[in-house]
Amino acid sequence: MIIVMQEDATEIQIQMITEKVKKLGYDIHADRGVNRTVLGIIGDTSQLDMRNLEVEEGVAEVLRVTEPYKLASRAFHHKDTIIRIGSVEIGGEEVVVAAGPCAVENEEQISQIAETVAKAGAKVLRGGAFKPRTSPYTFQGLGEKGLKLLQSAARQNGLLCVSEVMEGGLVGMVSEYVDILQVGARNMQNFPLLKEVGKAKKPVLLKRGLSATIEELLMAAEYVISTGNPNVILCERGIRTFETYTRNTMDISAMPVVKKRSHLPIIADPSHGTGKRDMVAPMARAAVAAGADGLIIEVHNQPEKALSDGSQSLYPNQFAALMEELKMIAWAIGRKIGSVDKPNPTLIA
Ligand code: PEP
Ligand code: MN
Repeated sequence: MIIVMQEDATEIQIQMITEKVKKLGYDIHADRGVNRTVLGIIGDTSQLDMRNLEVEEGVAEVLRVTEPYKLASRAFHHKDTIIRIGSVEIGGEEVVVAAGPCAVENEEQISQIAETVAKAGAKVLRGGAFKPRTSPYTFQGLGEKGLKLLQSAARQNGLLCVSEVMEGGLVGMVSEYVDILQVGARNMQNFPLLKEVGKAKKPVLLKRGLSATIEELLMAAEYVISTGNPNVILCERGIRTFETYTRNTMDISAMPVVKKRSHLPIIADPSHGTGKRDMVAPMARAAVAAGADGLIIEVHNQPEKALSDGSQSLYPNQFAALMEELKMIAWAIGRKIGSVDKPNPTLIA
């Protein structure tokens, strides 16, 4: 349930109603917009009589939010959430691209890749240090050493960095190195982990679970926000279907669905979304056209030698060519990639 305050509601009126709701045993989150304040009542409100709240001074209207997620819903927060990290804004006009290897393997590898993706226009360096591998016998990541290499390669090239955290107990340590904490698809419903990243001070990139509905993704975001971290970036990374020609089925419709239901930014991962290098560019182009606020793309300097996900990793030159195409698509729908306002079509290979 949400309480929409009148435009001229006073601070005292907001305080009074907040106290009243708290006394009834609910938690309350205030969303202070430029024109009006919206109060979100958290908890099971099925027994709460709206009429008692509607009559309070300063209240414009009381609405039941029918979706099970509240803080993540557009009803609660009407305007798009823009997450600012340094000079980068996720969820605004710019389509922000994160790129890098599936996993950090060594210093030379991550430095080379960081340099090439930065030159092509990426703003964020990706690279796993704790890898959720299907087999316990395959490369599991370099751990903290990998995070150090990732951070240093990112800083040297003016990039932010993102990496996955798999355990609640490691959120503090991983936060020391990354600008964005990634919660992987396999952990989307690891509720203790969601609560830990909810207490962290860094934005969270929350990937859609392998067989999760969009509602479940938004409920997972609700865990993070309700624990205290409003900076959640959703990520469509493909879901399991009966299709076998791709590793996953990338759900392009997740972009408009999320935009309608939620104020949170959503980015797309065409690498895990398809699992195949030759399909990454078409799906990246489609995701931007469908309204994605960003992309996360696997790029490797030697994909054939990669310790994980080589077959879905782009070669640096493929990534650079894709970025030029994406600039055109972003521009066509009133957005941009980088500072170039009008892209140059002759740069497309
Ligand atoms: C990754 O980004 O490297 C990864 C493991 O992704 P996902 O959790 O989507 O499988
Ligand atoms: Mn990967």
